[in-house]
Formats: sequence, C-alpha cells, structure tokens
Amino acid sequence: MRRLRLVLVIACTSVGLAAQTPAPASTAPLALVNANVVNVRDGKIAANATIVLRNGRIESIGGGAAPSGVKVIDLKGKYVLPGLIDAHTHADNFAAFRRALESGVTTVRSAGVSNYADVGFNTLVKNGVVAGPNVVTAGYHVRPQMAPEAFLGDPSYADLMSGVTTIEKMRRAVQMNLSHGVDWIKILATERAGTADTDPRKQVYTEDEIRAIVQEAATRNAPVEAHAHGDEGAMAAVKAGVRSIEHGTYLSDATLQEMKRRGTYLDPTYTTVIDLTDSGGDYDVPALRIRGEHMLPRLRDTVVRAHKLGVPIVTGGDTGYGPNSLTRIGQEATHFVEMGFTQLEAIQSATIRNAEMLKLEKSIGAIEAGFEADLIAVERNPLEQITTLQDPLLVISNGRVGLDRLNFAR
Ligand SMILES: [Zn+2]
Repeated sequence: MRRLRLVLVIACTSVGLAAQTPAPASTAPLALVNANVVNVRDGKIAANATIVLRNGRIESIGGGAAPSGVKVIDLKGKYVLPGLIDAHTHADNFAAFRRALESGVTTVRSAGVSNYADVGFNTLVKNGVVAGPNVVTAGYHVRPQMAPEAFLGDPSYADLMSGVTTIEKMRRAVQMNLSHGVDWIKILATERAGTADTDPRKQVYTEDEIRAIVQEAATRNAPVEAHAHGDEGAMAAVKAGVRSIEHGTYLSDATLQEMKRRGTYLDPTYTTVIDLTDSGGDYDVPALRIRGEHMLPRLRDTVVRAHKLGVPIVTGGDTGYGPNSLTRIGQEATHFVEMGFTQLEAIQSATIRNAEMLKLEKSIGAIEAGFEADLIAVERNPLEQITTLQDPLLVISNGRVGLDRLNFAR
C-alpha cells in the first residue's frame, strides 16, 4: 500500500511536469520514404528518396525500400530540407523553444538571455530530456550595464555591477560567461533599437575594447557576435575580429567591403524591424514605430548591397518566440528573396551558410549521411516557392519528431 502511494505520487509529479515541458519524443530509428530531398549545396532534388535516421543521425539517403523493423513515414512526394537555423534568438523558456521548433528551426544561436537558460536548455536537449532545437549558447550580453540578474546568479562578479567600462572589466564579463560554459560571446557595439531611449547609431565600445573581448573569448575558442546598427560601431567590431554583425542597419560600403575581405557574416534580422513598424508582435510602441519606419528601408538597402558584394548573410529572428511574436525564420528567408536572393541562396542562408558561421557545417545544415538528423518537410518545392518554408508539415530534430502535421496536408 505504501509503495502504491509512492508510485502514485511519482506519477502525479510527472504529469505535472509534462504539462510544462515538451514530452521527450521517440528516438526509435525512422525511415522517411517517397521524399523529394533538396540538396542545399547545389539546388538539385533527389526524387523518391528514402532517408534512414538512427541514433539522432542521418544514416543514409538513397533509393529503395526502408530497412525492416524501422518505423516508416511516407512523405508522398513532400519536399525535405535540413532543419532551419535561427542565428539570433532570445528564447529562454520551454514554450518559446517549442515555438521555434514547430516553426522548423532545429538549431538556434542565443543572442543573450538571463540565467543561462540557453545553456540549461541545450543540456536538456543533448541529454535527450526534451526535443530540440539545439542551442548555440551565449549567456549574458556583454554591455556597459549588464543585466542585473547576472549577479544574482554569480555574485562573485559583483564588481561588474557598477559598469563594464574598462578593458579589464570587459575581459571579466567574458570570463563570467565562459565559466558558465557558453559557446559564443555576444557584445553590444552600438546602442539598441528596440528601446525608445537609446540611439541605435551610437557606438558603445571602441575597436581596442572589442579586440580585448575577442581575444578573451578566443581563450576558449568562443567567437563573438556583435550587435551593431550604426556604421562606426560596426566597423570597429569588424576590424576587432568579431565573427558576425547582428542587424547592420546603417552599414557603409566600406564596412561591407571589410566584412567581405575578412569573411565576417551579416545577420540582418530584417523581419524583426518590420515588427517595429507594425502593430502587435514583440514591439508595439509608437516611438519605435517611427524609428522602424526609417530603419527598415536603410536595412533593406544594406542587405541588397551586402548581397551584391558577396558578404555571407544568415537568417536570424531576434525574437524570444513569445506568444505574440510575429517573427519566424521562414519569413526572413522569404524577405531575402524579395531583396534579390535566389530561392536557393535564401535557403542556404537559413541552412548551410548559417552552419558555416556557427562552425558546425560538418554536422548540420545539409542532409547528408553522418549529419545530425535535423530536417523538415514542406508542401511545395521551396526552390520555386520560398514561402513554403513558413509552413513546415514535419519537423525532426536529433532524430526526434517535434511536429507532424502530414496527415492534415493530405
Ligand atoms: Zn537581439
């Protein structure tokens, strides 16, 4: 009797947990048959292919029947692509990561969150406790006034509360993040656009200061992502050796040429600037709407020039995937096509190009044997109709089915 009661208590507890966290999906081997598989490197489509997924990896892609004893999903000619990559997220809770996953995103790069929620969530994904997306982590945004929660979690860095304004303190802010196991360091090179009392053109850190941050991050092989709207702050960050410029609204040709020369990536997060100009979404503030209306054409012009110059461009959402968020990676790719990308180039920005920026191009961003089993199925040929990325019918992350709406599509 006593044992039975204990079992009941455990059962009730796990039901309570299941209500808050996504249930672990099956990791049993899977075969996807009758798939039109998009090769994101050359834009060729392998028709009627069979993809076998085992132990979280892609085991094989080819013709022929599914191996016996493996669960089969018949795609009936739907198009299969690598899972999408969001290079700029502020997702920090289970519901948010689930929204990202259900939008087709199987890998995100954090652009700053509190409480190392990115590190925690990624550990749960890696240990198979929850379905993806995988998170490339960044911890706390390094800026003159760090988020105060950082010091609740780690009071040993309380000397940074008075401001991260000297090179020594900048190095310590990087060390604080690295000590919590982050993969990247996020810095503020210009002020923010999404708050009414800051000026996004205004430079925050000098080239020498950013170089110190880049060097400190490099002690643990962590690349640096720099928030930069204004041109001077962005150029300082590029020359200091950051790996990506986030936003890039006011970039000059000179800065874009320097990025091209060094291979610095541009992550324009265009869709979130549209959100500034619209009602609803993550931003619904009149002062930001006025700002967004003059930023949007500038950013568009920057993306068009960067694309023509050959600067590598990636997709990032810059949303926390909250319940009111209007920003998705499928939309960002669609906007890239409106700005002159071919549909293949837009798909590459969301997959293999993004994987290269993350230095994960040997394991994600393409559908190849040995790669992580991260993939999505969509209704139409995305090389002809990019908007189909906005409506994934099947999402698989690390071999786990995160979303399956195939039945509704038939
Ligand atoms: Zn952001």
